[in-house]
Amino acid sequence: MQESGLSVGFFTKSCVALACLCGVHLIVALFFYLKESPAKFTSYRKIQINSDIFTSQAHRTAALVQYDNGTEVIKLIYSNGSVIKDDVQDPAGLEHCPETSPLLVGRLRVEFSEPVNLDMVRKDSPRLVMGGRYKPSDCVALQKVAIIIPFRNRGEHLKYWLYYLHPILRRQQLDYGIYVIQQDGEGTFNRAKLLNVGYVEALKEYDYDCFVFSDVDIIPMDDRNTYKCSSQPRHLSVSMDKFGFKLPYKQYFGGVSAMSKAQFQKINGFPNNYWGWGGEDDDIFNRLVFQGMKISRPSGDIGKCRMIRHSRDKKNEPNPQRFKRIAHTRHTMKTDGIKSLSYKVVDVDKDLLYTKITVDIGKPGNF
Ligand code: BGC
Repeated sequence: MQESGLSVGFFTKSCVALACLCGVHLIVALFFYLKESPAKFTSYRKIQINSDIFTSQAHRTAALVQYDNGTEVIKLIYSNGSVIKDDVQDPAGLEHCPETSPLLVGRLRVEFSEPVNLDMVRKDSPRLVMGGRYKPSDCVALQKVAIIIPFRNRGEHLKYWLYYLHPILRRQQLDYGIYVIQQDGEGTFNRAKLLNVGYVEALKEYDYDCFVFSDVDIIPMDDRNTYKCSSQPRHLSVSMDKFGFKLPYKQYFGGVSAMSKAQFQKINGFPNNYWGWGGEDDDIFNRLVFQGMKISRPSGDIGKCRMIRHSRDKKNEPNPQRFKRIAHTRHTMKTDGIKSLSYKVVDVDKDLLYTKITVDIGKPGNF
């Protein structure tokens, strides 16, 4: 009995000694590893997924913060391990803005009877940067949004747009820039080609991940209609006064829409050969459907908007070829789009409230 007790004691002591030895070895190894290569040391902390633009049902993402050499780097990582977004966190170490901004007020009064004063907008936006750029001061915006407005001879409408939209976008806590793309000359207007130009020019300035394409005369009546992208292309002007506050037809994708960079590239951007009024938005809708996407929309209530009444613009008569063109989107979208876009920048005008880029986009038959 005593003999076996002794041998058990000896065995226990040996095990403890061995474990201690291993522990010391581990500590020494770790010490030298960290001393030699501090940059290799990486720690992770889970953060909330802030944006649905990067998530899909098939691949749920995990969001991690990685510390490399003391720098905080945000990586959104698929469950299969692939990194889909790398972003250096704001040097001030700010948290991401919440999914729903606490600054929203809901329904807005939108009127066009009185002229508006843009100096008030300039004064109320101390963080606006030349070119119509803004980002929140107290959190990191969920998306970097370029807002593209096709434009010619609508100075009065642009004033209303800037007057109403800057405060709304600020309350939506977006990191945004306003790009007014003005068609040079008196030739036939081409809305979709100007939008393509806006996409390319905005990306030359900043790493935008979302693009909102807006007519200059449409103002949202509710700031909960956030001007940002989602996992599917989003139509934002869903109930316009002009159409009795409802969709004119189910496939309608005109007015204001939002697309991520990936969604836009997937459809080869917009068509360049719709000269004059109509059809280009139906072509864009077709492109999205042919690429297997679905349109997402806010509710009819939140998606209410007002359109500034105006007579038809000169050189923007209904395009008689639009019906024929829409019937061939599946084929034409392969060649006609962002890949075949050509234009010349004529002028760049930076105002505190916008960047206006004047472009020569050629003429019909020469795009
Ligand atoms: C045109 C579209 C336009 C819509 C609503 C359609 O017939 O093809 O371009 O947006 O009408 O006015």
